[in-house]
Amino acid sequence: MSSGRRFAGKSAIVTGAAGGIGRATALRLAGEGASVLAVDIKKAELSETASMAYGSNFRTMVADVADRAAPERIVSKAVSAHGGLDLLVNNAGISGRGGGAAQAGDEEWDGVIDMNVSSVFRMSRAGLKHLTSPGGKIVQISSVFGLIGFPDSAAYAAAKAGVAQLTRQMAADCGPLGINVNAIAPGVIETPMTAERIHNDAWYNEAMIKNTPMGVGQPDDIAGVVAFLCSADARYINGQVIAVDGGWLATRYWPRD
Ligand code: NAP
Repeated sequence: MSSGRRFAGKSAIVTGAAGGIGRATALRLAGEGASVLAVDIKKAELSETASMAYGSNFRTMVADVADRAAPERIVSKAVSAHGGLDLLVNNAGISGRGGGAAQAGDEEWDGVIDMNVSSVFRMSRAGLKHLTSPGGKIVQISSVFGLIGFPDSAAYAAAKAGVAQLTRQMAADCGPLGINVNAIAPGVIETPMTAERIHNDAWYNEAMIKNTPMGVGQPDDIAGVVAFLCSADARYINGQVIAVDGGWLATRYWPRD
């Protein structure tokens, strides 16, 4: 559900916008009036996102955000196409299934850390050169796995905890500039990243879904909160990592059969 045109005249970048949470977020911000630069590594699916977008100020850019040169190029495209940068949503991420600390190899560790936290830092660094001050917003996508310990996900958990802490740290530097930096920690959201696990992994269902009081979430459940954090209503929220997980973290829910 949209809340009118809260982002008319605003320029936004959303990474990882070819599917899942990023697609829903890019469409949501565009639906509420933002000029959006949607970025992803997947060309065909990104074009599909663009075909679903409302309005004409929706642009796409195929880029690997983990490429060290990419963030500056992405930001400069948004600035030249849309006249500035107001909203930066660092959403792109990869799942890490390389196991726990005893199993994760160096390649898995380096790849997941580089993509899931270092690229977020580099996108933010590039964005901060242009973000509207005051009034700019950065929203980063962490994970519930960055806030608690969960088996078999050492690199992913460390990277997502890094995103959470980077968010808090950046809030201290950016708050005085009038730029809000917040993060969302999603629980189980049905996206291309998780679809296979949701439908075929019995252990994951027991550990994550059965004990989520509100069941599996949808990409729009995250997009709506991103939009809120990008809105004027969130003016005084800074440095928060908001769990959007149907109550998984806050409870020890176990249904009575
Ligand atoms: P998704 O469906 O896989 O969408 C992420 C998109 O980002 C994909 O199109 C992906 O392409 C793209 N991407 C990956 N690496 C990239 C790169 N180097 N450069 C540009 N684009 C890249 O994932 P999602 O579930 O929507 O997840 C979005 C974010 O939420 C991620 O940061 C994820 O860790 C986080 N999250 C998701 C959940 C969940 O339950 N879904 C829970 C907690 C946190 P490829 O498909 O080629 O990788």
